[in-house]
Amino acid sequence: VELPIHDAVLARAAEFGDIPALIDGTDGTTLSYEQVDRFHRRVAAALAEAGVRKGDVLALHSPNTIAFPTAFYAATRAGATVTTVHPLATAQEFAKQLTDCAARWIITVSPLLDIARRAAELAGGVSEIFVCDSATGHRSLIDMLASAAPEPQVAIDPVEDVAALPYSSGTTGTPKGVMLTHRQIATNLAQLHPAIPAGPGDRILAVLPFFHIYGLTALMNAPLRQGATVVVLPRFDLEQFLAAIQNHRITGLYVAPPIVLALAKHPAVAQYDLSSLKYIVSAAAPLDARLAVACSQRLGLPPVGQAYGMTELSPGTHVVPLDAMNDAPPGTVGKLIAGTEMRIVSLDDPGKDLPAGESGEILIRGPQVMKGYLGRPDATTAMIDADGWLHTGDVGHVDGGGTSRSSEAESGGGWLFVVDRVKELIKYKGFQVAPAELEALLLTHPGIADAAVIGTYDDDGNEIPHAYVVRQPARTDLSEAEIMMYVAERVAPYKRIRHVTFIDGVPRAASGKILRRQLRERA
Ligand code: ATP
Ligand code: MG
Repeated sequence: VELPIHDAVLARAAEFGDIPALIDGTDGTTLSYEQVDRFHRRVAAALAEAGVRKGDVLALHSPNTIAFPTAFYAATRAGATVTTVHPLATAQEFAKQLTDCAARWIITVSPLLDIARRAAELAGGVSEIFVCDSATGHRSLIDMLASAAPEPQVAIDPVEDVAALPYSSGTTGTPKGVMLTHRQIATNLAQLHPAIPAGPGDRILAVLPFFHIYGLTALMNAPLRQGATVVVLPRFDLEQFLAAIQNHRITGLYVAPPIVLALAKHPAVAQYDLSSLKYIVSAAAPLDARLAVACSQRLGLPPVGQAYGMTELSPGTHVVPLDAMNDAPPGTVGKLIAGTEMRIVSLDDPGKDLPAGESGEILIRGPQVMKGYLGRPDATTAMIDADGWLHTGDVGHVDGGGTSRSSEAESGGGWLFVVDRVKELIKYKGFQVAPAELEALLLTHPGIADAAVIGTYDDDGNEIPHAYVVRQPARTDLSEAEIMMYVAERVAPYKRIRHVTFIDGVPRAASGKILRRQLRERA
């Protein structure tokens, strides 16, 4: 796709006209397609007039709001690279990101203005802070709508120019700035489109954050490109989320595993009419097949379909197509999308391709592979080899036909199963244990509300599987012995949980991933 991202997404905005593009799930405020199209052009003009130039980095610092897409596309139309910022970042964390990418501009919201100001002070180099809503002393996007400045005519090269600079989740280390060009993002939208098409009349609930690449793609770019309506919530609150599904007759959900867990287990779910839902997609972290089934059976839906990707892949490579959700094997993350190649290679001998059915590291090559990490050439070469293969760091295998080396021509073949991350595998006496498998098993225990597993060390220096368990409120008597027995009866001896710690909550990133690092620090 050889269009800048704003043109690729809003190509049909005029045709969609009065159809609601975005609805604020808290107060019902609505923006039509015609408004998003007009507003982002006006704001682009005002940003250009304020001095935003091609190649400048603009930090978009906002929770999910209906103004977020307008701010994003206005900035890219003005030629800027948008780096999205976690709305809960501290001033120090935000300043670190601003410094890392030498950002010149910030768009924030008035409740976060103080943090944005302090971050800009700490980082230096920020020319101006704009605010989406109104705030004294700063230009707001609302004022900008009245701008009479001419629309900027910036020559964007979709192949080279970086449209977005999201930071990876920081699950395994410091978040890295990922350079995604206009073409990489736009192409990935086109690649994913056939699997889960949407259109006018479809209503998507955006509760996962737009600032993360999954939300940015599945909840913003993809539905807006197709004329669907996006109902926006600023944060995940289960009751508000369920009420929004009921009141806005939501048809499709894109969530992460913790929300699937809530839908499967939480008593509040039964109090809402969720009959408008047609499908649920889960991505961003491992989802156990049993949990997916429990969720969909409770809601009377086809099985939760998964998708797989990472920030460095713009972000998708695999998805369970909508028309295959009933037939896909349980637990699969989907089939390889068109125009993409995959290999599964041995963990011990990375040059060796493995046959179907055997687990190894997943390698990906395709037009959605990132341009690179910003300012980290070594990390980039460690990730993408000389032949263009991106080493995902994830372990998986392909089943159901296909070979493990697949390309567009044969992508119809196999289903991919993601086991866990290479780095998270626990080596117990020479055996490899995947924490995700044990976590999924623990969640099948009725007395367990949530769980995480990491490798810690016993007194002899052996790495052992160590479970961190959140008990159900009604089962505060649940003991370490009962949990260890429950697991021991169901897994091979080397996979047994050797130690249990009870905690109040599992630490997770905004994208739903377990922050095992934090548990490790605690251990
Ligand atoms: P960092 O790279 O900074 O440590 P991160 O890898 O968590 O953080 P993201 O790009 O948000 O940052 O996440 C990508 C990762 O999410 C993948 O590498 C994979 O481990 C995991 N993931 C995504 N989708 C799935 C899925 N369907 N099943 C299992 N894991 C998934
Ligand atoms: Mg990663």
